[in-house]
Amino acid sequence: MLCIRWSQSIGGGKGSHVFHDGIRKHRFHPQQASARNDMLSNACLTLNKKTPCYLKKVYFCRKYPVMKKQVLLLFVMLPMIAMAQFDQYFTESSLRVDYCLTGNGKATTFSLKELIHEPYWSGSKTNLIDNLEFGNYIVKVYEAGTDKLLFSKGYQNLYGEWQTTDEAKVVTKTFDESVIVPFPKVKIEVAICYKTWEGELVEGMRITVKPDDYFIRDYDNLNLPVYDAWIGNKDITKAVDVVILPEGYTQAEMGKFIKDCDFFVKSMFDYAPYDRYRESFNIRGVMVPSAESGCTMPGDHIYKNTVMRFSFWTFDSERYCMSTDNRDIRDLAGQVPYDQIYILVNTEKYGGGGIYNFYCSSASSNGFSSDVIIHEFGHGFAGLADEYYDDDTYGDMYNNDLEPWEPNLTTLVDFDIKWKDMMDKKTPIPTPREEKYEHIIGVFEGGGYEPEGVYSPQMDCLMKTFKGHDFCPVCQRAIERMILYYSK
Ligand SMILES: [Zn+2]
Repeated sequence: MLCIRWSQSIGGGKGSHVFHDGIRKHRFHPQQASARNDMLSNACLTLNKKTPCYLKKVYFCRKYPVMKKQVLLLFVMLPMIAMAQFDQYFTESSLRVDYCLTGNGKATTFSLKELIHEPYWSGSKTNLIDNLEFGNYIVKVYEAGTDKLLFSKGYQNLYGEWQTTDEAKVVTKTFDESVIVPFPKVKIEVAICYKTWEGELVEGMRITVKPDDYFIRDYDNLNLPVYDAWIGNKDITKAVDVVILPEGYTQAEMGKFIKDCDFFVKSMFDYAPYDRYRESFNIRGVMVPSAESGCTMPGDHIYKNTVMRFSFWTFDSERYCMSTDNRDIRDLAGQVPYDQIYILVNTEKYGGGGIYNFYCSSASSNGFSSDVIIHEFGHGFAGLADEYYDDDTYGDMYNNDLEPWEPNLTTLVDFDIKWKDMMDKKTPIPTPREEKYEHIIGVFEGGGYEPEGVYSPQMDCLMKTFKGHDFCPVCQRAIERMILYYSK
């Protein structure tokens, strides 16, 4: 989804930071930021002289210890059973399925590209079946032969957004994508499913995977330096692991990237409910330089050689800054444990984007970056929809005869499953956009780019404008639920 059009900036934050160089662990306090940045920049510069081609270069090594099995006295049986199931079927690493979507506004073809064995499983070991059912796409893993569902996860993609554009009416394109599932111990079947306009779940592709198949490629260990911007106190399978990737930062600008990662952390923990769940997050920056500084801006005839080839004017919307270089993004993200990918784009230009369980991006150095960063993370992490309704980048996004999956929108088709429980019974449904309802939870017509037929929970919210700097209570609850979903 696009970032919103304007905002005001905020700041804040705290804490010391840890940097691993593969051998030693260095802890820096905020007052030592200069020394820390110098050390990182010097290290990168030294290495870069030897190898200008960063993607093939061996930098530092780093391994993340996965939590050792512990014998715990568990008082709740369900998590124990789920953990046992995880251990029966899966290892503590991941299978990345790279595939292509080729099509247009009317039809889509799915095709497999490659299977990759990645080193970390950072998702939950107990919440293996995605009961939230957010997103128009879902990956399902079955035990081969029995059709027993072992794992599922919902997501959105850039291709699905593109399908609603005018371009998709006349052009056919191919988009790369990946899904990440726990690496199996047994033969499995992986199905990629999508929801039709009528809400029907259709299987687009199904493949069989044998864990000992020697055509499953081992991931490329790029041995890039990693900056631990924030490490909470939870194991990777019980934390929200965010990987930050630098786009358009040259080798000499790696110190700036470190500062921008710190800014990301400060921004996140300035907002509720993230401020109450600091220990449930790990935020790591993978330090990979671009050949050129900045970002491609086609509308201004500016083209940059950058590591992930992000571009403003995505779908011809100036502030929408996205990339279709999925495999480069995934190769870099896979260097560390991750549940969410966040790309910081080294520019002062206002913009960004965020897609549920896909990736988020934001300009690093715009005056509004703090709000944009958190707004986009609302899309990517919690599946929140834009609550504004005055943007015509997309065509029809919602079928008004169905309840949308986004937790902060309703068509009133099945409002009981949304935020009805949070409303005062005296509040009218729908709720007029009048001053007396300005700060209460209601059902206000307009949201998700649609001025009619789609309703949002509050007259203003960080998913609509940046006037108030806060998420509405409905969005806050959705974020909190998602944090807890990852924490089990
Ligand atoms: Zn909201």
